[in-house]
Amino acid sequence: MSRFASETVRALSPYEPGEQPQDRRYIKLNTNESPYPPSPGVLRCLNGDAAAGCRLYPDPVCAGLRDALAAQYGVRRENVTVTNGSDEALNFAFLAFGEDGVRFPDITYGFYPVFAELHREKYQTVPLREDFSLHVEDYGADDAMIVIANPNAPTGMALPRSAIEALVQAHPNHVVLIDEAYVDFGGESAVPLTQKYDNLLVVQTFSKSRSLAGARVGYAIGCEALIRDLETLRYSTNPYNINRLSLCAAEIAVREQPYYDDRCRQICETREAARQALTGLGFEVLSSRTNFLFARHPAIAGQRLYQELKERGVLVRHFSQPRIADFNRITIGTPEDMAAMLGLLEEIIHEKR
Ligand SMILES: *Cc1c(COP(=O)(O)O)cnc(C)c1O
Repeated sequence: MSRFASETVRALSPYEPGEQPQDRRYIKLNTNESPYPPSPGVLRCLNGDAAAGCRLYPDPVCAGLRDALAAQYGVRRENVTVTNGSDEALNFAFLAFGEDGVRFPDITYGFYPVFAELHREKYQTVPLREDFSLHVEDYGADDAMIVIANPNAPTGMALPRSAIEALVQAHPNHVVLIDEAYVDFGGESAVPLTQKYDNLLVVQTFSKSRSLAGARVGYAIGCEALIRDLETLRYSTNPYNINRLSLCAAEIAVREQPYYDDRCRQICETREAARQALTGLGFEVLSSRTNFLFARHPAIAGQRLYQELKERGVLVRHFSQPRIADFNRITIGTPEDMAAMLGLLEEIIHEKR
């Protein structure tokens, strides 16, 4: 830290992204990317005119992408803002709506406390129950913004829309932010409720189910006034927050939704097969509505398992946080990736006996 650093910088402990190794090839099951490439039209656009267009600034309104998303979700352009990854939407939402403080689960996306600290907002964590289930009645009085990942990460567990609606109704004077990064893998989206409640903001991403983690595109859906607040921050930060290539890729991805629906179905099938195989190996596996599984084995510590897999060329994600230190989060890859990973797990567990 320099001697010039502000109080804010001094106090921050930044988010630690999962490893993105550049040194060797791993079977990469650690950051919940799609194992499948973007759809054909997206690849054509990126290889063609969009690249030449980079001489020009992108459309600051992001009209094409917002209209495509609005049509997909049955809302209007004014109900959608698009951001540089959903992380940027979350960042803006914390800044815009977290003044009274923020409340979120103890076990959830590790970026939430960082955003709260960045904006010097008080935050409170609400423990998940013993079985890692989330109960909306634990979220207290209507005195803070509430942030819930649904499905949650890294547990993978999901709440029905009715529970989200109860939470939104119980906090009419604060924003309830639902982070739906994984909703396309079997969750129930709260987007339809945004038409009914002016305090509900739903955030989604192109990074997981739409194979565009590297393009950095996310979005938020909510009532017009909430979206206008986020747009104020977007225009106060970087009106060109999404580059031309990513705008073009994301807009085509929305039009090619059936391709991604097929890939999501495949990933859910692979997930169920992997869940059974892990259970067969003696793992406890939480129920998942996402593109990952969260699992622990009674005979081997989480950190150790992570390390043994890494030495054998498979990356998974381990969190050293107390309640979950015995678990690993395993992204669903191709059936071939999963077979390789499961073969190695069998070997590792066998050696322990
Ligand atoms: C991956 C993830 C995000 C961020 O995704 P972006 O790549 O920034 O769109 C947000 N929330 C959760 C819960 C995630 O797992």
